[in-house]
Amino acid sequence: MKRPVDNPPVTVVGAGLAGSLLAIVLARRGHRVRLYERQEDMRRVPLDAGRSINLALAARGIRALELAGVMDEVRPLLIPMPGRMLHDPTGKLTFVPYGQRPEEVIYSVSRPGLNCILLDAAERAGVELFFQHPAVGADFAGHQVMFRDEASQRIEECDMHRVFASDGAGSVLRRAMVEQLNIACTEELLEHGYKELTLPALPNGEPRIDKNALHIWPRGGFMLIALPNIDNTFTMTLFLSMTGPESFETLTTPANIEAFFSRHFPDVPSLMPELAAEFLQHPTGIMGTVRSQQWSVADRMLLVGDAAHAITPFHGQGMNCCFEDCRELDQFLLQSNDWSRSFREFETSRRPNTNAIADMALENYLEMRDTVRDPKFHLHKALSLELERRHPQRFVPRYSMVMFRDDIPYEVAYERGHIQVEILSALTTHADTLAAVDFAAAARMIEQRLPPLPN
Ligand SMILES: Cc1cc2nc3c(=O)[nH]c(=O)nc-3n(C[C@H](O)[C@H](O)[C@H](O)COP(=O)(O)OP(=O)(O)OC[C@H]3O[C@@H](n4cnc5c(N)ncnc54)[C@H](O)[C@@H]3O)c2cc1C
Repeated sequence: MKRPVDNPPVTVVGAGLAGSLLAIVLARRGHRVRLYERQEDMRRVPLDAGRSINLALAARGIRALELAGVMDEVRPLLIPMPGRMLHDPTGKLTFVPYGQRPEEVIYSVSRPGLNCILLDAAERAGVELFFQHPAVGADFAGHQVMFRDEASQRIEECDMHRVFASDGAGSVLRRAMVEQLNIACTEELLEHGYKELTLPALPNGEPRIDKNALHIWPRGGFMLIALPNIDNTFTMTLFLSMTGPESFETLTTPANIEAFFSRHFPDVPSLMPELAAEFLQHPTGIMGTVRSQQWSVADRMLLVGDAAHAITPFHGQGMNCCFEDCRELDQFLLQSNDWSRSFREFETSRRPNTNAIADMALENYLEMRDTVRDPKFHLHKALSLELERRHPQRFVPRYSMVMFRDDIPYEVAYERGHIQVEILSALTTHADTLAAVDFAAAARMIEQRLPPLPN
């Protein structure tokens, strides 16, 4: 559906994943769109090392990419990951499937690859792109946003007319909103940071570890993960405390880096000849959760994506959630000509869901680095899948609701997930195996506490 052309144009700030996708969606609806980006055009200049090279794409993200008409181009970049491959401290491997149907997989995708496809599609849809034009501030009383043209160093003032701020977790425009409009906003940094490393392919080009899995080395207080790339390399990410005896603060020499990996991940150093050098070269990233009490300012500005609600990466949902923002916002904009109302309704309906996925992401960190080592966790997983087989309309494991469904709001997944944990705990108090579970009691609890889900 196309709307009459809106004049003057709408402005999207930040040509990352959310901003590029949103620009396409708005342009395809008939709006004139200007997209401003701080950095150079990543299609011409390679991206800095150490910025989450690949990501897990799931159902919600795919649906939004379909809306933008780019899925045919994205598909060749996708590597299916049907489950987790757990690496224990002795090197023993255990594969734990994520779901139980063939379509229940998540996909590893290259961040720059995906972003470049979105930028190309934005250009084809008529979006005007301005690279090396960071937003440097905003004046909410005077209704202006300021950009700096890096080439000339000139400050350009732009009317604050339907500005979509998708400038990421450290959003300059959100911070201007918070300062000038006295909006409550928390930016909670995690005590843990992350570092990305490369696991190269073998000399014959083959992958060194199973390509169709998300690999995890869970070690309680910290963990290492690996996601596959198209060229048979893997991007490894170490999540570790920033301070303390075993932390990024103390891993500062090749000798102690190698000793740390040999102690905790003995199967890894032989796979990574450049381990210590890369470790010292690559930046240590920070992670956190942003919760802002307000995302919109009348019909003038709206925060979208990480700028509105950055979350920690442990559910692999940050990008998926940002893409879902774009799809839901599109629906609100289609329903009304009153932009201010659409912005308000979007944020009111969306915030409980982004809060829920923020909480689930934090909970998942504990699950990935620690709970997966507990035998009870594996019993609960197996029982969840069995209950889903027996009651597919009512009992869907929380992970599946979040990753494989695009029709269950995060908030609903969160609430039902809590009820399901209570049911699982009650059923396994005296049962150590599936065979010992009282399935008649399970059926009664499920009928009583979990209303049917949409088909
Ligand atoms: C280690 C890690 C792993 C992750 N893994 C996953 C995963 O597996 N799955 C998943 O779904 N999500 C994952 N995420 C989350 C995901 O990366 C983010 O949610 C997503 O990138 C947010 O998109 P965005 O466009 O809102 O912000 P960003 O991707 O940060 O894009 C913001 C853009 O705005 C630009 N910009 C910034 N400031 C300005 C300014 N002042 N003016 C103009 N432009 C500006 C930036 O250059 C950038 O291009 C991960 C995140 C991290 C840190």
